[in-house]
Amino acid sequence: MSRKTVFVDSDILVVGGGMAGCGATYESRYWGRDLKIVCVEKANIERSGAVAQGLYAINCYMGMQWGENQPEDHVRYARNDLMGLVREDLGYDIARHVDATVHKFEEWGLPMMRDPKTGRYQREGKWQIMIHGESYKPIVAEAARKAASEIHNRIMVTHLLMDAKRPNRVAGAVGFNVRTGDFYVFRAKAVIVAAGGASHIFKPRAVGEGMGRTWYAPWSSASAYALPILAGAKMTQMENRIVLTRFKDGYGPVGAYFLHLKTYTQNAYGQDYEAFWRDSIEKMVGDYVNHHPVPTCLRNHALLEELKAGRGPIRMVTKEAFKDPHKETVGWENFLGMTISQAIVWASQNIDPKEINPELTTSEPYVMGSHATCSGAWASGPEDYAPSEYQWGYNRMMTIEGLFGAGDTIGGTAHKFSSGSFTEGRIAAKAAVKYVNEMGQDRPSVSESEYEALRQVIYQPLENYRIGRNEIVAGTVSPSFLQPLQGLQRLEKIMDEYVGGISAHYTTNEPMLTRGLELLGMLKEDLAHLGAPDLHQLQRAWELQHRVLASECVTQHTLFRQETRWPGYYYRGDFPKLDDNDWHCFTLSQYDRESGRWQMEKAPVYHIID
Ligand SMILES: Cc1cc2nc3c(=O)[nH]c(=O)nc-3n(C[C@H](O)[C@H](O)[C@H](O)COP(=O)(O)OP(=O)(O)OC[C@H]3O[C@@H](n4cnc5c(N)ncnc54)[C@H](O)[C@@H]3O)c2cc1C
Repeated sequence: MSRKTVFVDSDILVVGGGMAGCGATYESRYWGRDLKIVCVEKANIERSGAVAQGLYAINCYMGMQWGENQPEDHVRYARNDLMGLVREDLGYDIARHVDATVHKFEEWGLPMMRDPKTGRYQREGKWQIMIHGESYKPIVAEAARKAASEIHNRIMVTHLLMDAKRPNRVAGAVGFNVRTGDFYVFRAKAVIVAAGGASHIFKPRAVGEGMGRTWYAPWSSASAYALPILAGAKMTQMENRIVLTRFKDGYGPVGAYFLHLKTYTQNAYGQDYEAFWRDSIEKMVGDYVNHHPVPTCLRNHALLEELKAGRGPIRMVTKEAFKDPHKETVGWENFLGMTISQAIVWASQNIDPKEINPELTTSEPYVMGSHATCSGAWASGPEDYAPSEYQWGYNRMMTIEGLFGAGDTIGGTAHKFSSGSFTEGRIAAKAAVKYVNEMGQDRPSVSESEYEALRQVIYQPLENYRIGRNEIVAGTVSPSFLQPLQGLQRLEKIMDEYVGGISAHYTTNEPMLTRGLELLGMLKEDLAHLGAPDLHQLQRAWELQHRVLASECVTQHTLFRQETRWPGYYYRGDFPKLDDNDWHCFTLSQYDRESGRWQMEKAPVYHIID
């Protein structure tokens, strides 16, 4: 079937209109008044990305106007939480600008809670401020809409395009409209990837009908990683997957409970278990356990050990706090503003937190770059602050010329969250505008043969289905093609069992990882036979392609780092301890799409802040 091809030319192309993408779009216009700024999004930026359903807190705000924290403090905090390994130059760069971003959100109409006594933003914790954030995303999206030359919603970007003249320079992207099926060729001088993190690469706790209930957004499909990986960009810390302790079955947030309502956890027998595990953790990771606050992964570890010792379930003690009507309201509003389903789960399970202390559990692992974890692309740092080894071009440019990133896309910078992701989008955009302005006449060009070849590949699953559908038995079973859901479940099983998912107690080792890579290799071969009956499934097929490539990257990194740096996130059974002598470093990977091989290396961690 012939499909319409739509060409879109721009100076700056932003891929993904979530928090970072909206920040990038907004700031591109500020610095590039006359430039053509295009944002492309697979959903609709009005309600897309991890903030789609709203948030109840902005988790990264310094409060410099009131002398609450300084950027250096935030770097120390993130470094401590990530067991010593963060890109301090990138983190500092975000922290010094993030307050200005939050002030803009308020100016644009985001309702902030204020402390009635001081008039300052209401703090939930040292870094978090509380908001009435149901409409957080529409408010941020409006700013991006007004700034962009064009927003293209409902277009799934599948591949980046490279310059026909210079192999390591980006020249645009291709994708398809998930409603009309039109083929899109975006030609751009600079591309900013802001396509979010990755859920559903490890088997989730909720399966079957419930599989859409994951902690990270189910539509975060690893494009932020697969797009640069395929183009040959270096990635960092991809082994640093995150596991969250959350309310059971609904993944409801616990931050406001711990920080604002001052609730606490205990085992099934009413005991505080964290202190009990301190000495054994010290034997694994040394002094890191004595740091304050105790790193997130180590708190997970204590909970997991307590469960293994047979003293579960672990419960959040809400009964005391919920006796206070104000705290009770805050507790419920916390869910209604961002995770309504947790309230529904509690109602359906007869849990009134005033009467029953609800259970906590740990999630399946996710890959992302903006929460208490820092997987993503290896990026050049700010000119005035990054060590020379971390500077090879413009700020936030990856190891590919003209290719920038922000938010979950960029590695090494944990704890940026929603506000920091938007801020990093702004930082990347400012640098991208500079790159475009300094480009002169030496502009990238796109070869017709490249995008025509990709068009063939992109729509192949529709063709596979058309040819193979007559052989289907039992509704879904086909001898000649694989459905996206079947492929996804196969991926999740491999990652779960071999790369440290929930059913393996987050534990793996070299033989397991090696076997996992073999099985991923076989899955990759079978992806050529994906079958899609319609455009929706075609999108699922490409989301799966992206997830598989990102998963392979995670597995390679996990194999390379021969230590257990973050117990509670994952364990290398064959290297059960943290090893600062050999592994106080970043891990880097680079994929060669011709050979399918991965090149691994170490990069130094520079401690710029004392
Ligand atoms: C459950 C949960 C709770 C959180 N709580 C908080 C909190 O309380 N406070 C806080 O500050 N932060 C919180 N965060 C973190 C915050 O949401 C993220 O840090 C932030 O959204 C990351 O921004 P991003 O732009 O990188 O990704 P996203 O905001 O997820 O945006 C990615 C965008 O890319 C689009 N996209 C993906 N693939 C493609 C493709 N192939 N083609 C085109 N478009 C694509 C997506 O549709 C999406 O719009 C929370 C996150 C989650 C999931």
